[in-house]
Amino acid sequence: MKVALSLSEGLKRYFGYDGFRPLQREIMEASLAGRDTVVILPTGAGKSLCFQLPALLRDGPTLVVSPLIALMKDQVDALTAAGVAATFLNSSLDGAETRRRREGLAKGTYRLLYAAPERVMAEGFAEDLVRWGVAAVAVDEAHCISQWGHDFRPEYRQLSALRERLRGVPFMALTATATERVRADIAAQLHLASPQVFQASFNRPNLSYHVRPKKKPARQVFEIARAFAGESGIVYAGSRRMAETLAATLAVEGIRALPYHAGLTAELRTAHQEAFLRDEVQVICATVAFGMGINKPDVRYIVHADLPKNIEGYYQETGRAGRDGLPSECVLLYSPGDLVKNLRFFADAEDPEVARVAERQMRQMADFAEADVCRRAALLNHFGEAWTEDNCGGCDVCLQPRERWEATVEAQKLMSCLVRIQRHSGFATGIQHVIEVLAGANTERIRRWGHDQLSTYGIGKDLDRAQWSHLARQLQVRGLIATSEDGRGTVSVTAEGLRALKQRNPIVVTRLSVPPEAQQGSGGSARPRRAGEIPCDEGLFEQLRLLRKSLADTRSVPPYVIFGDITLRHIARTYPADDAALLTLPGVGRKKLEDHGADFLRVVAEWRQTHPAMEFEPLDEPAPPKMVSDQGPRPTALATLEAYRTHGSLAAAAQARAIALSTATQHLVDCIRHGRADDLDPAAFYSEEQAKRMADAAGIHGWERLAPIHEALGGNVPYETLHLCRAFALRTKA
Ligand code: ADP
Ligand code: ZN
Repeated sequence: MKVALSLSEGLKRYFGYDGFRPLQREIMEASLAGRDTVVILPTGAGKSLCFQLPALLRDGPTLVVSPLIALMKDQVDALTAAGVAATFLNSSLDGAETRRRREGLAKGTYRLLYAAPERVMAEGFAEDLVRWGVAAVAVDEAHCISQWGHDFRPEYRQLSALRERLRGVPFMALTATATERVRADIAAQLHLASPQVFQASFNRPNLSYHVRPKKKPARQVFEIARAFAGESGIVYAGSRRMAETLAATLAVEGIRALPYHAGLTAELRTAHQEAFLRDEVQVICATVAFGMGINKPDVRYIVHADLPKNIEGYYQETGRAGRDGLPSECVLLYSPGDLVKNLRFFADAEDPEVARVAERQMRQMADFAEADVCRRAALLNHFGEAWTEDNCGGCDVCLQPRERWEATVEAQKLMSCLVRIQRHSGFATGIQHVIEVLAGANTERIRRWGHDQLSTYGIGKDLDRAQWSHLARQLQVRGLIATSEDGRGTVSVTAEGLRALKQRNPIVVTRLSVPPEAQQGSGGSARPRRAGEIPCDEGLFEQLRLLRKSLADTRSVPPYVIFGDITLRHIARTYPADDAALLTLPGVGRKKLEDHGADFLRVVAEWRQTHPAMEFEPLDEPAPPKMVSDQGPRPTALATLEAYRTHGSLAAAAQARAIALSTATQHLVDCIRHGRADDLDPAAFYSEEQAKRMADAAGIHGWERLAPIHEALGGNVPYETLHLCRAFALRTKA
């Protein structure tokens, strides 16, 4: 009990926070009780605090193993600024400095010691750790231990030996990796002793996701950067050349931007990264090489100017935005041409197996970009996490529902044109050629292959080529047409497509809509408050940022080490006049109040002399994950319910509407949750025995996430059934 009390005290005194983020307290208590722990939280959830705060309550120092030297210095700077005695040992220090720090450790000066794994495994270091009385070990970026991870580091493997040497010392492994396989590997490879595993949702409520048609990427990137005037952003490009081009274009337009990629010297890369951390440049245009070592909490936007290679990478890269919890935007510029280009690249790969996997992942990524389902739902589903909100309120699909239209006739035209071409010529062609035939174009190939003789030649003049292309992709996502596996990009109608063609199933698709430029970017004023948003006096906020930058420069630390944006925004909406008022704000602890309080209070007072105080609505309580946004089921969901009633089974309803079974299930869940399907009988969807097993598992794991229930039931109850069961269960409760 004493421990719990001191945790909260330490939280405010050193870190300036009033409350714990989800799971933080539980994790710290388990660790202080001596348990090994595995901590799987998304970026920005506050993992560092899970070992930093308990370190203040232990007798001996806490060792933090971290793979990145640059990151170590930042973390130690930030801790020191908060009044926590911390240090690091790595190859960047000279002999004298190393000796000085080791003496400090022997004297018990430090609460935290950061070190890279190779240092930890060096001859005699384990004995040193024992001598210094190391009381806990935190392994940061623990996925580096797994060869299945995106950042395997063989040195990490040796940490299991350390686990053996330091018996009785609790280990904590931390990662933001979302893949199941890697998570399982971590506990096994580290030899953790029946660790307690903590895992939170991978949803990042403060991030919004947008996919936009890629037209003139440099121009589009510029527009976005301009909309975020003065705030930090990362632009990811698929090639070094693209990264260079984008940075140069931005610079010409007066936006401070630098490139970052493997073609630059190590010195330049470090310099560019440093300039970004210190808010000297606004935008980094990078290849994927950038970001691993970036702990910058106030990156406000991420743009992908080229199609990422896979969804995992996309999630990781977008994850670098908004660590501090303030609203941040992720924009993907998408052109179907990117997919084609990349596939061609893979077709030349040496190992066909590697090429196949890469191609599949790339197609999943393209499907993500083209699908008309909530981006958040799609991302979370990819990682096995259920997301059932109708409208996430933070992605392009949810914010701008697409216009739907019945394209049954057009789909028929397209599919029969495919069939005729193949029948006529004996080979399949790429989709672009098919569209040319539909459009009645007069190309050399069409003449040579005699495709102008087909009855489908020129029957598609009513739609433009882009719409045809969009329709084709949607038919592909639904499995009605398929691209050949050999990487040549030829397209044919699948068995399911043939069936749909014969039965004339209605096919409803979305229209390719190009959002008006005016709605792009952010910075608009009349829009609903976004998750995590803290409205404030923007003019004062700017002044506070300037002060922060100059304080940071004199101390040669990144600005966020002084105060984060959250703290500045709170200052700029409450206009504190004295120390006591300042101390109530998040991020203001004793040490920082002492060091910087007077400066910030002075700027506020000066501002107030010439500006009236603005008033702001109270902030929402930091709510637990929101579950509802109630406008009733969508029309498409009601149509599925209708089809279900007509056809008597979900599978038949899905088929009749030419949608995937999982989509049909979601629609039904939607209707059940909104009380529009009260007559439906759960027994039509699962047996009584299944119902009981699911209810039992939900009793243990709760209904928030379906993955644990799925697992508890041995993986043999399909997610569709679980979704339905949950909808029925929550309906009866209401
Ligand atoms: P992660 O390592 O999980 O990506 P960090 O440890 O970098 O996340 O924390 C992200 C941000 O959240 C930091 O700016 C940190 O100061 C802040 N933070 C952590 N815990 C809390 C808390 N309990 N209350 C408020 N802010 C917090
Ligand atoms: Zn959404």
